[in-house]
Amino acid sequence: MAELRGVGIGQGVAQGPIARMAARLDPPREEKSTRGADEEKAAVAAAVAAVAAELNARGERAGGTAQDVLEAQAMMAEDPTLEEGVHARIDAGSTGEWAVHAAFAEFAETLQAMGGYLGERAADLADVAQRVIAHLRGVAAPGVPDPGHPFVLVAPDLAPADTALLDLDKVLAVVTTEGGPTSHTAILAGDKGIVAVVGTGESDLLVDGAYVVVDAAAGLVVVDPDDTQRAEASARADARRAAAEAPVTPGALADGTAVPLLANLGDPDGAAEAVALGAEGVGLFRTEFLFLSSEAAPTVEDQTASYTRLLQAFPGRKVVVRALDAGADKPLKFLTDEGEENPALGRRGLRALRHHEEVLRDQLTALAAADAATEADLWVMAPMVATVEEAEYFTRIAREHGIRTAGVMVEVPSVALLADRVFEVTDFGSVGTNDLVQYTMAADRMLGTVASYQDPWHPAVLRLVAEIGRAGAAHGKPVGICGQAAADPLLAVVLVGLGATTLSMSPRALVDVRAELLKHTLDDARRLAEAALAASDAASARDAARAASNA
Ligand code: PEP
Ligand code: MG
Repeated sequence: MAELRGVGIGQGVAQGPIARMAARLDPPREEKSTRGADEEKAAVAAAVAAVAAELNARGERAGGTAQDVLEAQAMMAEDPTLEEGVHARIDAGSTGEWAVHAAFAEFAETLQAMGGYLGERAADLADVAQRVIAHLRGVAAPGVPDPGHPFVLVAPDLAPADTALLDLDKVLAVVTTEGGPTSHTAILAGDKGIVAVVGTGESDLLVDGAYVVVDAAAGLVVVDPDDTQRAEASARADARRAAAEAPVTPGALADGTAVPLLANLGDPDGAAEAVALGAEGVGLFRTEFLFLSSEAAPTVEDQTASYTRLLQAFPGRKVVVRALDAGADKPLKFLTDEGEENPALGRRGLRALRHHEEVLRDQLTALAAADAATEADLWVMAPMVATVEEAEYFTRIAREHGIRTAGVMVEVPSVALLADRVFEVTDFGSVGTNDLVQYTMAADRMLGTVASYQDPWHPAVLRLVAEIGRAGAAHGKPVGICGQAAADPLLAVVLVGLGATTLSMSPRALVDVRAELLKHTLDDARRLAEAALAASDAASARDAARAASNA
C-alpha cells in the first residue's frame, strides 16, 4: 500500500484498476523505405481500415454527439485525397509511417487555412494520424484507453477532446499527474461529478492494472489498498449514493439554523438540474458566459429573454445575477482593453462596465424588465468592486433602473477590510472566494505554477471573510459565499461560522454540503471557524477545523 497526494475535485471516492492514457508517439523519421511500395501501401490500407472500424465501433458504443464526432473522424481517415497524398509519398520512396505523417499534416494545413468548422477539424486529423501510425507500429493508440472494463483513468492531463468523450460508465475516476485545480480536467470533473484527484506528480506506482482507491475528499490516491481500505471506500461511496437519493431538504445546521443552499449557474439551461438537486435559488448567475463569443454587446431584448428564462425557473425564489464580469480570465471583446500587462489587476469587472456605462445600463434595463415579467426575487450584484465609492455608484445606478436589491461581490481585500462602510451603501455582499484568494495571496488563479497558493482555507482569507461576516451581522445585511470554497463541505461549515448566511455552489456539490451542515450546530460552526482562524497556513487551518469537528 502506498499513497500519492494531489488536489481532490469534489468529495467522491472510487476504486478500480488503472488504465493509463497512452503517450503520444514519437514522430516518424523521414527515411527511405526498405520494403516495396506495394507492401507499404497494403500496410497503410490495413491500418487505416482498422482505425476507421475502431472509431466507428467506439462511436456506436458512445452514441449521441460523440458518435457523430467519431464517425466523422473515421470518414476522414479514409478520405481519398489523403490516400492519394500517402500513395504519392510512398511511390517517391517514403516509408508508410512517414507518408501518413506528412500527408495528414499537409491536409491539416489545408483545413486550417479554410478556417471555421473545417479549420477546427485539423486537430482531429492529427489524432487520426497518430492512431494510424500506432497501428503501423503495433503499439497502443494514444488517447483514452478502452480496456473493455471499468477503470481509473491516469493521464498527464486531459485534452478537451478527450474529456468530452469520456464514457462515464467506464471511467470510475480520473487521476492526472500534471493538471492543477483550475485545469480543464478539474473543471470538467467538477461539472460532471467525476471523482478526480489532479496533480499527483508522476509515479512508478501508477501502472496499468494497479488497483487504486481515489479519494477526492482527501486528495489521495491509495495504490494497492488493503481489504479494510477497500471496504471503507465502498461504504463511503454507498453512503454518498444514498445521500444523493435522499429527499432534498432546505439547507440547515443541526440546530435548525437555516443556511439556504443556492446554485452557481452560467446558463439558464442549467436551472432545471439545479432545482432537481435541491437548489433553493441562484446565488451567482454568471452573465458573461452568455456572451463570451459575442463580437458586440448583446441587445437589451436578447438579454431580457435570457434573464426571463432564468427567473421563470425560480418562482418566489432568490436569484442573484452578477453584472457582466469582463476581463482577466473572462475577456469580452467589446468591453475589455487589449494589451494590459496584468489584466487581473486591470480594467475588469465593474471598472470595465463603468468605462462603458451604456453596457451596464442596458444590462440593468434588461434585468429590470425580466424581473417585472416574472415571480422570482431578483438581486443584482457588481463584480470586482474595490472601493466604497464603487459600491455606492453601483447601488445607485441599479436602483435608478428599478432594481430593488443591489449588492457587491467581495473579491478584493480592500472591500473586505472596509466591509462595515460598504454595508452602509449597499444591500448585500457575496464573497467570490476564487478571486478573493487570488488577490489576497497575489497568485494568478489561472497559473498552475502557483496553484498551491490558491487555497481558500488560508487563514488570511478566512480573516477577511470574518470581517465581512461581522460587518454583515452588525448592519443586518446578508453575506453570501459564491466561490469554489462553498463547495468544500467542511469549509462551508467554517464559512457559516464566520458569518455567511447563504452558500452558493455548482449544483453537483449541494448534496455533500447539505449533509455536512446537518452534522454541526451554529456553536460548532463558530468553534470550527475559531480553530481555523488561529492557524498560520491553509493546511493547518484545515487540520484544525477537522480536529475541532471530531472533538
Ligand atoms: C469568484 O471570484 O469567486 C467568483 C465566484 O467569480 P468568478 O469565479 O466568476 O470570478
Ligand atoms: Mg470572481
